[in-house]
Amino acid sequence: MAIKQLTETIINQIAAGEVIERPASVVKELVENAIDAGATRIDIVTAGGGKNLIRVSDNGSGIPSDELTLAVARHCTSKLTDNVHDIRALGFRGEALPSIGSVSRLSMKSRIAEADSGFEVNVHGGRLEGPRPTPMNGGTIAEVRDLFFATPARLKFMKTDRAEATAISDVVKRVAIAFPHIRFSIAGSDRTPLDLAATGTGSTGMLERISQVLGKEFPENAIAIDAMRDGVRLSGFAGIPAFNRANSLQQFAYVNGRPVRDKQIWGAIRGAYADVISRDRHPVVVLFLNLDPALVDVNVHPAKADVRFRDPGLVRGLIVGAIREALGQSGIRAATSGADAMLNSFRLGGVEPIRPAAQRWQGAAAVNQNYNVQQSPYRPFEAEPVASHGGEGFAETVQAFLYDGATALATDTRAGMAEAPQELLSAPLGAARAQIHSNYIVSQTEDSLVIVDQHAAHERLVYEALKNALHSKPLPAQLLLIPEIVDLPEEDVGRLVAHAETLARFGLGIESFGPGAIAVRETPSMLGEIDTQKLIRDLADEIAEHDTSDGLKAILDHVAATMACHGSVRAGRRLKPDEMNALLRQMEETPGSGTCNHGRPTYIELKLTDIERLFGRR
Ligand code: ADP
Ligand code: MG
Repeated sequence: MAIKQLTETIINQIAAGEVIERPASVVKELVENAIDAGATRIDIVTAGGGKNLIRVSDNGSGIPSDELTLAVARHCTSKLTDNVHDIRALGFRGEALPSIGSVSRLSMKSRIAEADSGFEVNVHGGRLEGPRPTPMNGGTIAEVRDLFFATPARLKFMKTDRAEATAISDVVKRVAIAFPHIRFSIAGSDRTPLDLAATGTGSTGMLERISQVLGKEFPENAIAIDAMRDGVRLSGFAGIPAFNRANSLQQFAYVNGRPVRDKQIWGAIRGAYADVISRDRHPVVVLFLNLDPALVDVNVHPAKADVRFRDPGLVRGLIVGAIREALGQSGIRAATSGADAMLNSFRLGGVEPIRPAAQRWQGAAAVNQNYNVQQSPYRPFEAEPVASHGGEGFAETVQAFLYDGATALATDTRAGMAEAPQELLSAPLGAARAQIHSNYIVSQTEDSLVIVDQHAAHERLVYEALKNALHSKPLPAQLLLIPEIVDLPEEDVGRLVAHAETLARFGLGIESFGPGAIAVRETPSMLGEIDTQKLIRDLADEIAEHDTSDGLKAILDHVAATMACHGSVRAGRRLKPDEMNALLRQMEETPGSGTCNHGRPTYIELKLTDIERLFGRR
């Protein structure tokens, strides 16, 4: 085939493929233009999750009538001089408007202060009309209708209106944090309105804007950061470790005012909190990096969310150092871990299977046969051995374990001191000998000492039961006498309600309660007494994080893990010897029980030979 030059429309549509991924990308570009134009007020209206309509109005400088045609033409920008390494505006590529115009019906209306009328141009699927006069106040109104009508393939990838509307709010909130002197509003038939009043500048204004976006609790739980190194300034707020979230959506980073999603910055934040926050939780952080534009490349990707630092090590060191110092000064010290030599001697549970799967059943049978289960208060355990891996029996087994525990037969509390039965000693997790600090079961096998984290183990068992509930009988639920009302952002309500049916299988009965709240009517019996508010918020976080990226199965796994995490029944509960042994046997039977849902071990094992070595006997 002969070589041909692509048409302008096709070139723009190709560019649009990179710049405009979804309605939220359009909003981001239009809002950035308004900010670059010096607006102090930006009003956004959407319909159909932005697919039907996006309108962004600003009171900025406006576009002179004779430049309107250029504004919607490719590679035309008023923001770049002759140096692509010295970028101070949010835009600089001159690509957004022509890209948007090539895949939608775009109308740009604008009026500069000096003109006595506004002017309008339209671009429909790449075709230009205008400019012609139109009455309006000073500023610019960019209106995008029928996004992606010209590229139906892209349209198919859109999420529900609600999900797209949420993504738009997220984009606006993210950018709004960096510009507290601007008032932002979003309204539309597809959402509850959001109005962020302008706050002052300076760190007070900044903090006020942040709390508009992140909630009033954030300032009370955050420490101000201000550090400078080799010309790079880092300011912002670091949430205290206890104020953590289930996902990293509440981490905001800005480079010279530009919101970025940068792996290096996320990595530095994780590093800074590594010792004070568990790996599965995420701190809430707002960081502003300011540096000479020549020291950072923002022209890495068309969407301009990636950056490349001239000196990444400097930036990382600055972030890690400043956050650690802030946390340290406020008295939150990293947990120190000593006795490394000893810890190294412990074998972590879950590193290798407790025993090969094929042998499990036999082994358990052997144990159960010899151990007088008839006298055990935990008969449900042995009554449902291997079949429990997939069936409903398993859930009930765990259930029975949790609740029957309270009415367990009184057993000899000195049993821990008595000789352990040989059958138990030969089981993989051995015979329980004691419970210490209300959470750790110390057990003895033929040649080792095992310590089980009872809470982590229980969490794992509940998790497996929840997963089983998906393809067998729903888990039992406990009806709340008075429904618990949880206030949430509308988008979170939407996400949760969308999964209400599945949550019901888990025993969590919810329904929406007005636009900004959830009513919880039932909670999973298995979890016992729980902090419903926290559970619901964590679930919303979890779904938000995985909704757009992962499949349903992944979401459900995360939901199950989050719920299991909340089942605090086992935490700090004293167990009788039979209960402890029952838990050990259940762990032996449950695949993957060697690690809790967060990948931490549920038990550790120290071989007798290692103990002897520790005491210098060998
Ligand atoms: P870029 O922002 O990269 O320059 P765009 O395609 O987004 O490219 O916009 C092209 C040009 O149109 C801008 O450089 C600016 O001069 C003008 N423009 C766009 N939106 C606005 C606005 N809201 N107010 C004033 N000028 C605008
Ligand atoms: Mg732009």
